[in-house]
Amino acid sequence: MPEGPPAWPCADEDVHAALESVYADGDWGRYHGRRCAQLVDKLSAYHGVDHVMLCSSGTVAVEIALRGLGVGPGDEVLLAGYDFSGNFRCIEAIGARPVLVDVDPKNWSLDPQQVIAALSDSTRAIIASHLHGGLVPMRELMEIAGEHDMAVVEDACQSPGAKVQGRLAGTWGDVGLLSFGGSKLLTAGRGGAILTSSEEVHQRAKVFCERGNQAFPMSELQAAVLAPQLDKLDERNKTRRENVRRLLDQLGGGEKGDRRLFPERPGGCFAQNVPVPFFSGQLDDGPAFYKLPWIYDANAAGGIDRQQFIAAVRAEGVALDVGFRGFTRRTLRRCRKVGPLEHSRRAAESTVLLHHPVLLEEPEVIDRVAAALRKVLWAKQ
Ligand SMILES: *Cc1c(COP(=O)(O)O)cnc(C)c1O
Repeated sequence: MPEGPPAWPCADEDVHAALESVYADGDWGRYHGRRCAQLVDKLSAYHGVDHVMLCSSGTVAVEIALRGLGVGPGDEVLLAGYDFSGNFRCIEAIGARPVLVDVDPKNWSLDPQQVIAALSDSTRAIIASHLHGGLVPMRELMEIAGEHDMAVVEDACQSPGAKVQGRLAGTWGDVGLLSFGGSKLLTAGRGGAILTSSEEVHQRAKVFCERGNQAFPMSELQAAVLAPQLDKLDERNKTRRENVRRLLDQLGGGEKGDRRLFPERPGGCFAQNVPVPFFSGQLDDGPAFYKLPWIYDANAAGGIDRQQFIAAVRAEGVALDVGFRGFTRRTLRRCRKVGPLEHSRRAAESTVLLHHPVLLEEPEVIDRVAAALRKVLWAKQ
């Protein structure tokens, strides 16, 4: 693909029309027009929650959520050892202490089984992020949280519209979060939202943000372009899932891949280097693919390291990235660590991500992506 990976945001006539309309009626330049209020209504109806608060980013949404829950100095907040870096910083920003819990090795997301061992008398809350198409099993997590009087912040910044055990991502936790940052599935360049059905959390969050004026606001212009994207979210998530399935099938990681399993590949060199098959079982439940991840194994790929691999695939016109750096190397002065965190460490060192825009393309483009990945991975045999 000599033109390179598809641009994001993609062309969208309805976004264009929304921009024309917000220009025509002057809301683009107002503190308080109709667009933010409309988006609040739309988001709460879509998610079935009582309160939605718009804000300036997903990052600050995490802090607002923790403040809304009344978490503060001296409290401990659990989070995965592999997560978005801002989540760790937000815990520190409110004077609380991060406690690292390992991720599920098949899922890139926090493992509820690890949570019990992490609890202490100071535990007040947990941040559960659905990462890279993986979904935290929220039913199990909410049960544990309920038994131990711990609040749950559900970070759905990477998975708006995803279905988790039959319910929308962001609606299981005491507070749910969305991001509308420039790379995200719903984008306004910047922006975020806090979802909750707790009156108390909503009031506390509002008081924190209100300083005679909104301290972390979303603009009318941002709200205007988000509304038409929300209308298309389910349809686009479905297209992305279908294309992930198509891609996995061609890389030996999809349903066919499950049956064939990997080592029979010539030379076995491809063994680890396919998107893991865990999605195939989940694809019907409804993950949202902001990124498609897999664990890259340099040894199995004849010694090409992760950066070289990404550069080679980028030269084929396919956008790959490394994953998060995670927190396993943070000092014990800054956090408490539960167990060896081996899966978080491996995720930080070896994750390769395919960025989502290509997943809205036609099937031929998906096939070319699969061909590019195979070409690079098999070249060393
Ligand atoms: C992007 C992201 C955020 C923060 O969102 P911004 O709007 O970019 O600040 C938070 N959590 C996760 C998991 C994210 O991927």
